[in-house]
Amino acid sequence: MRSGSCVALVLALGAACGGGGGGDPGVDATVIYPPATDLERDVVDTTLAVDLATRTARATITLAPSTSTGASFEIGDLTITSVRLGETALQYVETGPVGERLDIGVPPSTEPLVLVIDYGWNFHNSSNGVATAGYTLTWPYHCGNVFPCRSEPADGTTFHLSVDGAATGMELYPAAITGDAPSYMAAWIVGDFTRLDLGQTTAGTRVAMWHRATEGTQAAMGGAYLRPSFDWMEQHLGPYRFGSEVGTVSANWGASAYGGMEHHPYWHVGRAALSDVGINVHEAAHGWFGNGVRIRCWEDFVLSEGTVEFLMWRVLDEVAGASVADPLWAGLTTEVDRMRNGQGNGVAWPQSCGEVDILDDGLFSRAPYVKGAFFYRAVEQRVGRAQLDAALRTFYGRYAGQAAGMADMLGVITEVTGFDPTACAQAWLVSMTVPAAGACP
Ligand SMILES: [Zn+2]
Repeated sequence: MRSGSCVALVLALGAACGGGGGGDPGVDATVIYPPATDLERDVVDTTLAVDLATRTARATITLAPSTSTGASFEIGDLTITSVRLGETALQYVETGPVGERLDIGVPPSTEPLVLVIDYGWNFHNSSNGVATAGYTLTWPYHCGNVFPCRSEPADGTTFHLSVDGAATGMELYPAAITGDAPSYMAAWIVGDFTRLDLGQTTAGTRVAMWHRATEGTQAAMGGAYLRPSFDWMEQHLGPYRFGSEVGTVSANWGASAYGGMEHHPYWHVGRAALSDVGINVHEAAHGWFGNGVRIRCWEDFVLSEGTVEFLMWRVLDEVAGASVADPLWAGLTTEVDRMRNGQGNGVAWPQSCGEVDILDDGLFSRAPYVKGAFFYRAVEQRVGRAQLDAALRTFYGRYAGQAAGMADMLGVITEVTGFDPTACAQAWLVSMTVPAAGACP
Protein backbone atom coordinates (compact mmCIF):
# COMPACT_ATOMS: atom_id res chain seq x y z
CA MET A 1 0.00 0.00 0.00
CA ARG A 2 2.75 2.39 0.72
CA SER A 3 6.21 2.50 -0.76
CA GLY A 4 9.34 3.66 0.95
CA SER A 5 12.34 2.30 2.71
CA CYS A 6 11.59 -0.45 5.15
CA VAL A 7 13.10 0.67 8.38
CA ALA A 8 11.98 -0.26 11.84
CA LEU A 9 12.25 2.78 14.01
CA VAL A 10 12.63 2.55 17.73
CA LEU A 11 11.36 5.99 18.58
CA ALA A 12 11.24 5.60 22.28
CA LEU A 13 12.27 3.06 24.79
CA GLY A 14 10.39 3.61 27.97
CA ALA A 15 12.82 4.97 30.47
CA ALA A 16 10.46 4.59 33.35
CA CYS A 17 11.66 2.78 36.36
CA GLY A 18 9.18 0.48 37.95
CA GLY A 19 7.32 0.95 41.14
CA GLY A 20 5.33 3.98 40.10
CA GLY A 21 2.35 1.75 39.91
CA GLY A 22 -0.86 3.32 38.85
CA GLY A 23 -2.79 1.68 41.57
CA ASP A 24 -4.40 -0.96 39.39
CA PRO A 25 -4.88 -4.00 41.62
CA GLY A 26 -4.67 -6.46 38.73
CA VAL A 27 -1.39 -5.11 37.35
CA ASP A 28 2.19 -5.59 38.48
CA ALA A 29 3.71 -2.31 37.31
CA THR A 30 7.11 -3.06 38.78
CA VAL A 31 8.06 -5.01 35.67
CA ILE A 32 8.63 -3.25 32.36
CA TYR A 33 7.72 -5.38 29.38
CA PRO A 34 9.46 -5.09 26.01
CA PRO A 35 7.34 -4.18 22.99
CA ALA A 36 5.33 -7.15 21.73
CA THR A 37 2.99 -7.71 18.81
CA ASP A 38 -0.63 -8.57 19.59
CA LEU A 39 -3.18 -7.42 17.03
CA GLU A 40 -5.81 -9.69 18.59
CA ARG A 41 -5.80 -7.92 21.96
CA ASP A 42 -9.41 -6.93 22.61
CA VAL A 43 -10.03 -3.18 22.63
CA VAL A 44 -13.01 -2.33 24.86
CA ASP A 45 -13.17 1.44 24.54
CA THR A 46 -11.40 4.16 22.55
CA THR A 47 -11.59 7.69 23.94
CA LEU A 48 -10.18 10.43 21.72
CA ALA A 49 -9.45 14.06 22.59
CA VAL A 50 -8.47 15.81 19.38
CA ASP A 51 -7.04 19.32 18.99
CA LEU A 52 -7.53 20.56 15.44
CA ALA A 53 -5.38 23.66 15.97
CA THR A 54 -2.23 21.83 17.05
CA ARG A 55 -2.92 18.60 15.14
CA THR A 56 -2.35 16.60 18.29
CA ALA A 57 -4.53 14.14 20.15
CA ARG A 58 -4.72 11.86 23.14
CA ALA A 59 -6.12 8.36 22.78
CA THR A 60 -7.18 6.67 26.01
CA ILE A 61 -7.62 3.03 25.11
CA THR A 62 -9.10 0.41 27.41
CA LEU A 63 -7.91 -3.15 26.83
CA ALA A 64 -9.70 -6.25 28.07
CA PRO A 65 -7.91 -8.38 30.70
CA SER A 66 -5.37 -10.75 29.17
CA THR A 67 -2.25 -12.77 29.88
CA SER A 68 -0.69 -11.20 26.78
CA THR A 69 2.25 -8.82 27.23
CA GLY A 70 1.61 -7.05 23.93
CA ALA A 71 -0.88 -4.66 22.41
CA SER A 72 -0.65 -3.54 18.78
CA PHE A 73 -2.44 -0.85 16.83
CA GLU A 74 -2.46 0.53 13.32
CA ILE A 75 -1.00 4.04 13.42
CA GLY A 76 -0.61 5.07 9.77
CA ASP A 77 1.64 8.13 9.79
CA LEU A 78 0.86 9.26 13.34
CA THR A 79 3.76 10.63 15.39
CA ILE A 80 3.62 8.87 18.74
CA THR A 81 5.01 11.01 21.54
CA SER A 82 4.21 8.98 24.63
CA VAL A 83 2.56 5.75 25.75
CA ARG A 84 1.66 5.41 29.39
CA LEU A 85 -0.15 3.13 31.81
CA GLY A 86 -1.03 5.32 34.77
CA GLU A 87 2.24 7.03 35.72
CA THR A 88 4.32 4.37 34.03
CA ALA A 89 5.84 4.99 30.61
CA LEU A 90 5.53 1.85 28.53
CA GLN A 91 8.03 0.56 26.00
CA TYR A 92 6.86 0.68 22.41
CA VAL A 93 8.17 0.34 18.90
CA GLU A 94 6.83 1.56 15.56
CA THR A 95 7.27 -0.79 12.64
CA GLY A 96 6.74 -0.38 8.92
CA PRO A 97 7.98 2.10 6.35
CA VAL A 98 6.57 5.15 8.13
CA GLY A 99 5.31 3.72 11.35
CA GLU A 100 2.08 1.98 10.43
CA ARG A 101 2.03 -0.36 13.42
CA LEU A 102 2.58 0.38 17.08
CA ASP A 103 3.65 -2.50 19.31
CA ILE A 104 3.44 -1.83 23.04
CA GLY A 105 4.76 -3.89 25.94
CA VAL A 106 2.04 -4.20 28.57
CA PRO A 107 1.77 -6.18 31.79
CA PRO A 108 -0.50 -9.20 31.88
CA SER A 109 -3.61 -8.19 33.78
CA THR A 110 -6.73 -9.63 35.31
CA GLU A 111 -8.28 -6.16 35.14
CA PRO A 112 -8.89 -3.89 32.13
CA LEU A 113 -5.78 -1.87 31.22
CA VAL A 114 -6.11 1.82 30.33
CA LEU A 115 -3.38 3.03 27.99
CA VAL A 116 -2.84 6.74 27.34
CA ILE A 117 -1.25 7.49 23.97
CA ASP A 118 -0.28 11.05 22.99
CA TYR A 119 0.41 11.70 19.33
CA GLY A 120 0.47 14.10 16.42
CA TRP A 121 -1.48 13.58 13.20
CA ASN A 122 -1.38 14.89 9.64
CA PHE A 123 -4.03 16.00 7.17
CA HIS A 124 -4.93 13.60 4.35
CA ASN A 125 -7.01 14.60 1.35
CA SER A 126 -7.41 11.27 -0.45
CA SER A 127 -10.33 9.86 1.57
CA ASN A 128 -7.83 8.50 4.05
CA GLY A 129 -7.87 10.55 7.23
CA VAL A 130 -8.56 14.08 8.42
CA ALA A 131 -9.26 16.27 5.38
CA THR A 132 -8.33 19.94 5.34
CA ALA A 133 -11.96 20.57 4.27
CA GLY A 134 -13.00 19.62 7.80
CA TYR A 135 -14.27 16.04 7.64
CA THR A 136 -12.75 12.70 8.52
CA LEU A 137 -13.04 9.75 6.17
CA THR A 138 -11.26 6.56 7.18
CA TRP A 139 -13.29 3.76 5.58
CA PRO A 140 -12.21 1.07 4.97
CA TYR A 141 -8.85 0.87 6.73
CA HIS A 142 -7.38 4.35 7.14
CA CYS A 143 -8.28 4.91 10.80
CA GLY A 144 -4.57 4.63 11.63
CA ASN A 145 -4.02 8.08 10.13
CA VAL A 146 -6.36 9.49 12.79
CA PHE A 147 -5.96 7.39 15.93
CA PRO A 148 -4.31 4.13 17.10
CA CYS A 149 -6.89 1.65 15.87
CA ARG A 150 -7.90 -1.71 14.47
CA SER A 151 -9.44 -1.51 11.02
CA GLU A 152 -10.59 -5.10 10.59
CA PRO A 153 -14.34 -4.78 9.96
CA ALA A 154 -15.19 -7.35 12.63
CA ASP A 155 -13.39 -5.36 15.33
CA GLY A 156 -15.69 -3.28 17.49
CA THR A 157 -15.10 -0.84 20.32
CA THR A 158 -17.13 1.82 22.06
CA PHE A 159 -15.97 5.38 21.42
CA HIS A 160 -15.89 8.66 23.29
CA LEU A 161 -14.89 11.76 21.34
CA SER A 162 -14.05 15.36 21.98
CA VAL A 163 -12.85 17.55 19.13
CA ASP A 164 -11.80 21.17 19.61
CA GLY A 165 -9.85 23.93 17.97
CA ALA A 166 -11.56 24.48 14.62
CA ALA A 167 -10.57 27.83 13.15
CA THR A 168 -14.14 28.50 12.06
CA GLY A 169 -17.47 26.72 12.31
CA MET A 170 -18.62 24.03 14.71
CA GLU A 171 -17.26 20.55 15.30
CA LEU A 172 -20.02 17.98 14.88
CA TYR A 173 -19.46 14.49 16.29
CA PRO A 174 -21.03 12.08 18.80
CA ALA A 175 -19.64 12.52 22.31
CA ALA A 176 -20.21 8.83 22.91
CA ILE A 177 -20.88 5.74 20.82
CA THR A 178 -21.83 3.29 23.53
CA GLY A 179 -22.49 0.25 21.34
CA ASP A 180 -19.52 -1.61 19.86
CA ALA A 181 -18.76 0.02 16.52
CA PRO A 182 -16.28 -0.47 13.65
CA SER A 183 -13.28 1.87 13.42
CA TYR A 184 -14.60 4.01 10.55
CA MET A 185 -17.62 5.10 12.59
CA ALA A 186 -15.44 7.34 14.78
CA ALA A 187 -15.73 10.56 12.79
CA TRP A 188 -16.15 14.28 12.99
CA ILE A 189 -16.90 17.12 10.64
CA VAL A 190 -16.44 20.89 10.87
CA GLY A 191 -18.72 23.44 9.25
CA ASP A 192 -21.21 26.25 9.68
CA PHE A 193 -24.18 23.97 10.09
CA THR A 194 -27.85 24.74 10.45
CA ARG A 195 -29.91 21.99 12.09
CA LEU A 196 -33.13 21.14 10.29
CA ASP A 197 -35.30 19.33 12.81
CA LEU A 198 -37.25 16.36 11.44
CA GLY A 199 -38.99 15.41 14.67
CA GLN A 200 -38.92 12.30 16.81
CA THR A 201 -39.56 8.67 16.07
CA THR A 202 -42.02 6.55 18.04
CA ALA A 203 -39.06 5.28 20.10
CA GLY A 204 -38.04 8.86 20.89
CA THR A 205 -35.03 9.18 18.58
CA ARG A 206 -34.59 12.74 17.34
CA VAL A 207 -33.89 12.97 13.60
CA ALA A 208 -32.34 15.96 11.85
CA MET A 209 -30.38 17.21 8.86
CA TRP A 210 -27.31 19.42 9.29
CA HIS A 211 -26.66 21.63 6.29
CA ARG A 212 -24.92 24.82 5.25
CA ALA A 213 -26.84 28.05 4.79
CA THR A 214 -27.15 27.62 1.04
CA GLU A 215 -28.36 24.01 1.27
CA GLY A 216 -31.71 24.36 3.05
CA THR A 217 -33.77 23.30 0.05
CA GLN A 218 -31.60 20.25 -0.71
CA ALA A 219 -31.65 19.19 2.96
CA ALA A 220 -35.43 19.42 3.12
CA MET A 221 -35.74 17.35 -0.06
CA GLY A 222 -33.24 14.69 0.98
CA GLY A 223 -34.66 14.42 4.48
CA ALA A 224 -38.30 14.34 3.42
CA TYR A 225 -38.79 10.69 4.45
CA LEU A 226 -35.89 10.24 6.86
CA ARG A 227 -37.84 10.31 10.13
CA PRO A 228 -40.59 7.86 9.08
CA SER A 229 -37.93 5.63 7.49
CA PHE A 230 -35.88 5.60 10.68
CA ASP A 231 -39.03 4.99 12.69
CA TRP A 232 -39.98 2.05 10.46
CA MET A 233 -36.56 0.46 10.92
CA GLU A 234 -36.68 0.91 14.70
CA GLN A 235 -40.12 -0.67 14.77
CA HIS A 236 -39.49 -3.50 12.31
CA LEU A 237 -35.79 -4.34 12.63
CA GLY A 238 -35.11 -3.57 16.28
CA PRO A 239 -33.80 -0.84 18.59
CA TYR A 240 -31.13 1.53 17.28
CA ARG A 241 -27.83 1.14 19.13
CA PHE A 242 -25.92 4.38 18.62
CA GLY A 243 -27.70 7.18 20.43
CA SER A 244 -30.89 9.21 20.75
CA GLU A 245 -30.16 11.85 18.09
CA VAL A 246 -29.33 10.92 14.51
CA GLY A 247 -29.20 12.38 11.06
CA THR A 248 -27.43 13.40 7.89
CA VAL A 249 -24.62 15.94 7.85
CA SER A 250 -23.73 17.64 4.58
CA ALA A 251 -20.08 16.87 3.81
CA ASN A 252 -17.93 19.08 1.64
CA TRP A 253 -16.57 16.22 -0.43
CA GLY A 254 -16.53 18.12 -3.71
CA ALA A 255 -18.94 18.33 -6.61
CA SER A 256 -18.08 14.95 -8.11
CA ALA A 257 -18.37 12.89 -4.93
CA TYR A 258 -21.89 11.48 -5.00
CA GLY A 259 -22.72 9.31 -2.00
CA GLY A 260 -22.57 9.01 1.74
CA MET A 261 -20.63 7.39 4.55
CA GLU A 262 -22.22 5.60 7.47
CA HIS A 263 -20.65 7.55 10.33
CA HIS A 264 -23.51 6.91 12.71
CA PRO A 265 -25.18 8.56 14.53
CA TYR A 266 -24.26 11.63 12.38
CA TRP A 267 -23.66 10.09 8.98
CA HIS A 268 -22.10 12.17 6.23
CA VAL A 269 -23.63 12.69 2.79
CA GLY A 270 -21.71 14.50 0.07
CA ARG A 271 -23.21 17.88 -0.78
CA ALA A 272 -23.91 16.70 -4.32
CA ALA A 273 -26.18 13.94 -2.98
CA LEU A 274 -27.80 15.81 -0.09
CA SER A 275 -31.19 16.07 -1.83
CA ASP A 276 -31.23 12.33 -2.69
CA VAL A 277 -33.97 10.63 -0.64
CA GLY A 278 -32.56 7.17 -1.34
CA ILE A 279 -29.00 7.89 -0.22
CA ASN A 280 -30.20 9.43 3.03
CA VAL A 281 -32.23 6.30 3.84
CA HIS A 282 -29.41 4.00 2.66
CA GLU A 283 -26.97 5.60 5.12
CA ALA A 284 -29.55 5.49 7.91
CA ALA A 285 -30.08 1.74 7.32
CA HIS A 286 -26.39 1.10 8.01
CA GLY A 287 -27.27 1.74 11.65
CA TRP A 288 -28.68 -1.81 11.52
CA PHE A 289 -26.57 -3.51 8.84
CA GLY A 290 -22.85 -2.77 8.52
CA ASN A 291 -22.65 -0.88 11.82
CA GLY A 292 -25.25 -2.36 14.20
CA VAL A 293 -24.18 -5.77 12.91
CA ARG A 294 -20.56 -5.51 11.72
CA ILE A 295 -19.33 -7.62 8.83
CA ARG A 296 -17.02 -10.51 9.63
CA CYS A 297 -14.67 -10.01 6.66
CA TRP A 298 -14.55 -7.54 3.78
CA GLU A 299 -15.80 -10.43 1.66
CA ASP A 300 -19.12 -10.03 3.53
CA PHE A 301 -19.47 -6.47 2.19
CA VAL A 302 -22.75 -7.51 0.53
CA LEU A 303 -24.24 -8.13 3.98
CA SER A 304 -23.75 -4.43 4.63
CA GLU A 305 -24.33 -2.78 1.25
CA GLY A 306 -26.69 -5.24 -0.42
CA THR A 307 -28.95 -5.35 2.61
CA VAL A 308 -29.19 -1.57 3.00
CA GLU A 309 -29.62 -0.99 -0.74
CA PHE A 310 -32.61 -3.34 -0.60
CA LEU A 311 -33.89 -1.69 2.58
CA MET A 312 -33.66 1.73 0.94
CA TRP A 313 -36.30 0.61 -1.55
CA ARG A 314 -38.25 -1.59 0.89
CA VAL A 315 -38.59 1.13 3.54
CA LEU A 316 -39.40 3.95 1.14
CA ASP A 317 -41.98 1.77 -0.59
CA GLU A 318 -43.63 1.49 2.82
CA VAL A 319 -43.37 5.04 4.14
CA ALA A 320 -43.30 7.12 0.94
CA GLY A 321 -45.12 4.92 -1.53
CA ALA A 322 -44.52 3.71 -5.05
CA SER A 323 -44.10 7.17 -6.53
CA VAL A 324 -40.86 7.55 -4.54
CA ALA A 325 -39.72 3.92 -4.36
CA ASP A 326 -40.39 2.80 -7.94
CA PRO A 327 -37.92 5.23 -9.56
CA LEU A 328 -35.25 4.04 -7.14
CA TRP A 329 -35.84 0.43 -8.16
CA ALA A 330 -35.87 1.48 -11.81
CA GLY A 331 -32.41 2.94 -11.27
CA LEU A 332 -31.18 -0.34 -9.81
CA THR A 333 -32.75 -2.18 -12.74
CA THR A 334 -30.83 0.01 -15.17
CA GLU A 335 -27.65 -0.84 -13.32
CA VAL A 336 -28.31 -4.58 -13.25
CA ASP A 337 -29.12 -4.53 -16.98
CA ARG A 338 -25.76 -2.89 -17.62
CA MET A 339 -24.10 -5.62 -15.59
CA ARG A 340 -25.98 -8.18 -17.66
CA ASN A 341 -24.39 -6.57 -20.70
CA GLY A 342 -20.98 -6.93 -19.11
CA GLN A 343 -20.55 -3.39 -17.81
CA GLY A 344 -19.53 -3.16 -14.18
CA ASN A 345 -20.40 -6.75 -13.41
CA GLY A 346 -18.57 -8.58 -10.63
CA VAL A 347 -18.87 -11.18 -7.92
CA ALA A 348 -20.83 -9.70 -5.03
CA TRP A 349 -19.80 -12.23 -2.40
CA PRO A 350 -16.32 -13.81 -2.68
CA GLN A 351 -16.14 -17.10 -0.83
CA SER A 352 -13.01 -16.40 1.22
CA CYS A 353 -12.53 -14.49 4.46
CA GLY A 354 -9.75 -12.01 5.05
CA GLU A 355 -8.07 -12.47 1.68
CA VAL A 356 -9.72 -9.76 -0.40
CA ASP A 357 -8.52 -6.15 -0.25
CA ILE A 358 -11.82 -4.28 -0.50
CA LEU A 359 -10.27 -1.48 -2.57
CA ASP A 360 -7.45 -3.11 -4.53
CA ASP A 361 -9.31 -6.28 -5.52
CA GLY A 362 -12.35 -4.57 -6.99
CA LEU A 363 -15.00 -5.63 -4.46
CA PHE A 364 -15.83 -1.97 -3.78
CA SER A 365 -17.97 -1.77 -6.90
CA ARG A 366 -21.71 -1.49 -7.47
CA ALA A 367 -22.02 -5.28 -7.74
CA PRO A 368 -22.49 -5.99 -3.99
CA TYR A 369 -25.01 -3.14 -3.76
CA VAL A 370 -27.11 -3.87 -6.82
CA LYS A 371 -26.91 -7.66 -7.02
CA GLY A 372 -27.40 -7.77 -3.26
CA ALA A 373 -30.62 -5.75 -3.54
CA PHE A 374 -31.89 -7.98 -6.34
CA PHE A 375 -31.09 -11.08 -4.28
CA TYR A 376 -33.17 -9.84 -1.35
CA ARG A 377 -36.01 -8.84 -3.64
CA ALA A 378 -35.93 -12.30 -5.23
CA VAL A 379 -36.20 -13.83 -1.74
CA GLU A 380 -39.02 -11.45 -0.84
CA GLN A 381 -40.95 -12.42 -3.96
CA ARG A 382 -40.46 -16.08 -3.10
CA VAL A 383 -41.32 -16.05 0.64
CA GLY A 384 -43.44 -12.90 0.96
CA ARG A 385 -42.68 -9.49 2.37
CA ALA A 386 -43.68 -10.23 5.98
CA GLN A 387 -41.49 -13.34 6.05
CA LEU A 388 -38.39 -11.53 4.85
CA ASP A 389 -39.06 -8.68 7.30
CA ALA A 390 -39.20 -11.25 10.07
CA ALA A 391 -35.92 -12.81 8.95
CA LEU A 392 -34.15 -9.44 8.89
CA ARG A 393 -35.50 -8.66 12.34
CA THR A 394 -34.39 -12.04 13.71
CA PHE A 395 -30.93 -11.60 12.19
CA TYR A 396 -30.49 -8.15 13.72
CA GLY A 397 -31.77 -9.31 17.10
CA ARG A 398 -29.31 -12.18 17.12
CA TYR A 399 -26.17 -10.43 15.85
CA ALA A 400 -26.52 -6.75 16.89
CA GLY A 401 -23.29 -5.60 18.51
CA GLN A 402 -21.36 -8.48 16.93
CA ALA A 403 -19.80 -9.39 13.61
CA ALA A 404 -21.58 -11.74 11.22
CA GLY A 405 -21.31 -12.98 7.66
CA MET A 406 -23.63 -13.36 4.68
CA ALA A 407 -23.73 -17.11 5.36
CA ASP A 408 -25.31 -16.31 8.72
CA MET A 409 -27.99 -14.32 6.90
CA LEU A 410 -28.77 -17.26 4.61
CA GLY A 411 -29.07 -19.44 7.70
CA VAL A 412 -31.52 -17.08 9.39
CA ILE A 413 -33.62 -16.73 6.24
CA THR A 414 -33.87 -20.53 6.05
CA GLU A 415 -34.71 -20.80 9.72
CA VAL A 416 -37.37 -18.08 9.75
CA THR A 417 -39.02 -18.52 6.35
CA GLY A 418 -38.50 -22.23 5.72
CA PHE A 419 -37.01 -21.39 2.32
CA ASP A 420 -33.31 -22.13 1.79
CA PRO A 421 -31.96 -19.28 -0.38
CA THR A 422 -28.52 -20.84 -0.93
CA ALA A 423 -29.00 -21.60 -4.63
CA CYS A 424 -30.52 -18.16 -5.21
CA ALA A 425 -27.55 -16.54 -3.44
CA GLN A 426 -25.18 -18.65 -5.51
CA ALA A 427 -26.75 -17.31 -8.69
CA TRP A 428 -27.02 -13.67 -7.67
CA LEU A 429 -24.04 -13.19 -5.40
CA VAL A 430 -21.38 -15.87 -5.78
CA SER A 431 -21.27 -16.33 -9.54
CA MET A 432 -20.68 -13.77 -12.26
CA THR A 433 -24.09 -14.46 -13.75
CA VAL A 434 -26.86 -11.89 -13.64
CA PRO A 435 -30.06 -13.93 -13.27
CA ALA A 436 -33.39 -12.77 -14.60
CA ALA A 437 -35.19 -10.52 -12.13
CA GLY A 438 -38.03 -12.15 -10.22
CA ALA A 439 -38.61 -14.59 -7.43
CA CYS A 440 -35.94 -17.09 -6.39
CA PRO A 441 -36.69 -20.39 -8.14
ZN1 LIG B 1 -23.60 1.97 2.09
